Amino acid sequence: MYRWDDKPYYSLNYYLRQKFGEKVFKISLDGGFTCPNRDGTLSKKGCIFCSGRGSGDFAPSAVLPITEQFHQSRTLLIDKWKSGKYIAYFQAFTNTYAPIDVLRKKYEEAISLPDVVGIAIATRPDCLSQPVLDLLEEINKKTYLWVELGLQTMHEDTASLIQRGYPLSCFEEAVSNLSKRNIDTVVHLILGLPGESKNDMLLSVQYVSKQPIQGVKLHLLHIIKNTPLYDYYLKKPFHVFTMNEYIDLVIDCIELLPPHIVIHRITGDGPKALLIAPLWSKNKKAVLNGIHKRFKERNAWQGKLYSFSCPK
Ligand code: SF4
Repeated sequence: MYRWDDKPYYSLNYYLRQKFGEKVFKISLDGGFTCPNRDGTLSKKGCIFCSGRGSGDFAPSAVLPITEQFHQSRTLLIDKWKSGKYIAYFQAFTNTYAPIDVLRKKYEEAISLPDVVGIAIATRPDCLSQPVLDLLEEINKKTYLWVELGLQTMHEDTASLIQRGYPLSCFEEAVSNLSKRNIDTVVHLILGLPGESKNDMLLSVQYVSKQPIQGVKLHLLHIIKNTPLYDYYLKKPFHVFTMNEYIDLVIDCIELLPPHIVIHRITGDGPKALLIAPLWSKNKKAVLNGIHKRFKERNAWQGKLYSFSCPK
């Protein structure tokens, strides 16, 4: 049985502590970018689950300069944690979707901030042109970098339903390009997308586990007010997980993941005031406690079913 300190899975917290020798916090920054799936280049609708802030609901306002956003968030952290290092996290919208000089300026500013030991950049696989990849390679040589890709599902019919706007082949090309440049890649998957069975979700997990990636984020699907997903849910209500169902599913997923993949997230984080369903997810502590308790009850751990599992 594998264990990573007190946890039966390879958590981001554990990974960063091992790598940097102390607690490392992510600080969300809003670079003021947009997204081709929202600005009309691909579509104006966006992915159906995307909140108005492009999934960057926890970053300070984009009207503030990067340095000011960082200090604002750091001040709040320092009240609780007197010491620590930071990963500058460009989370909102598509953080490689701007001219190269604009991107370079924002990234350079972020990595020059005090106690910043790395940078995380969330983007779309179709926004990784050669010049962008070259810039990322340059940044990767200066500091620790990981790139996050929102795959959400490996299934093309679901991808079309959620208006993701790129095919699986585009994701594979992006992962391969990042891997060739030794850039760590973290893939987002959403559990609970409409029309997907449990088996479909496990197939997506199994698919990403075979890719040359270093991390995974497992998100619980949140239905947020004022999103196309909310309209869809009103017109065609679909099953939303109970807490118990989600807890077991997340453990099923983790059992399929190989032990070397770092797990960055096992729940969802959305704007609570706008959350329509599932409401139980507002109590994140209860969800995490429930997952850890169930791990023990099931005698489960990350990779338990990795080498020989094959959902049909
Ligand atoms: S790619 Fe990201 S920012 Fe763009 S619409 Fe989809 S979720 Fe929103």
